[in-house]
Amino acid sequence: MQQQLQLPIYLDNNATTPVDPEVLQAMLPYFTRHFGNAASRNHSFGWIAEEAVNIAREQTASLIGASTDEIIFTSGATEAVNLAIKGAFEMYSSRGKHIITCATEHKAVLDTCKHLEKRGATVTYLPVDESGIINLKILEKSIQKDTLLIAVMFANNETGVIQPIETIGKIAKERGILFFSDATQVVGKIPVNVEKYGIDLLCLSAHKIYGPKGSGALYVRRKDPRVRLIPQTDGGGHEKGMRSGTLNVPGIVALGKACEICKLKMDTEALHINTLRNKLEAGLTTLQHIYINGANTQRLPNVTNISFDQIKGNGLLTEISKTIAVSSGSACTSANPEPSYVLKAMGVSNELAKNSIRFGLGRFTTEEDIAYTIDTVTQIVASLRK
Ligand SMILES: *Cc1c(COP(=O)(O)O)cnc(C)c1O
Repeated sequence: MQQQLQLPIYLDNNATTPVDPEVLQAMLPYFTRHFGNAASRNHSFGWIAEEAVNIAREQTASLIGASTDEIIFTSGATEAVNLAIKGAFEMYSSRGKHIITCATEHKAVLDTCKHLEKRGATVTYLPVDESGIINLKILEKSIQKDTLLIAVMFANNETGVIQPIETIGKIAKERGILFFSDATQVVGKIPVNVEKYGIDLLCLSAHKIYGPKGSGALYVRRKDPRVRLIPQTDGGGHEKGMRSGTLNVPGIVALGKACEICKLKMDTEALHINTLRNKLEAGLTTLQHIYINGANTQRLPNVTNISFDQIKGNGLLTEISKTIAVSSGSACTSANPEPSYVLKAMGVSNELAKNSIRFGLGRFTTEEDIAYTIDTVTQIVASLRK
C-alpha cells in the first residue's frame, strides 16, 4: 500500500520516540479512573494501582532476563545512571574509589563520574578505536586493587556501536568488580539478558522504546552478587528504599507495556528496520567521500552515523533539517556547536565530525521516508560540494 509522505520526516529516534498508540491506551486509565497511589494499602484505588505496577515490573524484568525484585522504577535513564554510579560509589567506597568508564559514554555517565571525582573518586576514561570499541587489554590493565565499578555502555547513542559486553562482564566478575551498563539505546531493539552478559546494574528509559518521557528503570542484581546501593532520594522508602517518591503509575504502566510490545515484536521489527537502514546507507553511498562511522563492527539495527567529506561551509545539518529531523550528535549536546566528542574519540577529524549526521530509524519509519531521505540528502550534499 502506498503511504502518503508526511513532512517533516522523523529520523531522530535515538533522541526520543513517539508513544506507541497501544502504550498510550494502556496508560490512560491510570490518570483518571485508576488514579490511586500504589502505596495506599487499605483501599481498592491503591490495590489497583499496585497491581498495575506489579504487572509492569514483570514486563520490564522479562525483557532483560531479570526477576521482578531487581527492577527499580525511576524518572528515566539519567536518574537510573546517577543512582547506579553514585549509589555504588557511596556503598562500596571502603572497597575502593576507582571507577573505569569510557570516553564515548552518554553525558549522564560522564558528568556523574566527573561529579564523583570532586568527591574523591579516581576515574579512568577508556579510549576507543576507530570503530568506537574499547580495547579489552587496556581495560584489564586499567583495573586496580581499588577498582569498584566498570561502567561501559551497551551501545552508543550516536553511532549504535555495540561494546563487547559479555567479555567485559566476565572480566568484571573474575575481578570481583561491579559492572554497570547503560543499555538505554539497546533494550527493546536487540536481545538483552543480564545473566548472559554478567551485568550487575543496567538502566533503560521508556521514551527510547515508544513509551512516554519521564519513566525508566534501573536493574539491580540481587544474587551473585547481591548489589546494594546508597539511595540518592530519601523519603517514604518506595522501591525497596532505593528510590523514594510516589510511583508514577501511568508512566510505569506505559514502560511495562512498551517492554511487552518490544519483546513481542523485536525480531521482526529489527529485521525490517535494519533493511531500511541498509537501504539508506546503500542509497547514500553513491555520493562517494562518505564514511559510515562504526560500519566495520557490530551496530544496532536502527541507526547510521555518516560523515560527509568535501562539504563547503557548515550548512549541511541546517539544509537537511528543513524536511528531515536528524541530529549531528546526541540531542543533549546539539545545542552547542562543538563537534561530537564521540566521533572525535573515534579519531574523526573536527572538520569531518562537523559534517556528520545521525539517522535514527524507528518503528514508524517507512520505505517512502527512506526513499525521500536518500533523494534529498543526495541533492543537498551535491549542491554543497559544487
Ligand atoms: C537517552 C539516553 C539517556 C538518558 O535517558 P533519559 O531517560 O532521557 O534520562 C542515557 N543514556 C543513553 C545512552 C541515552 O540514549
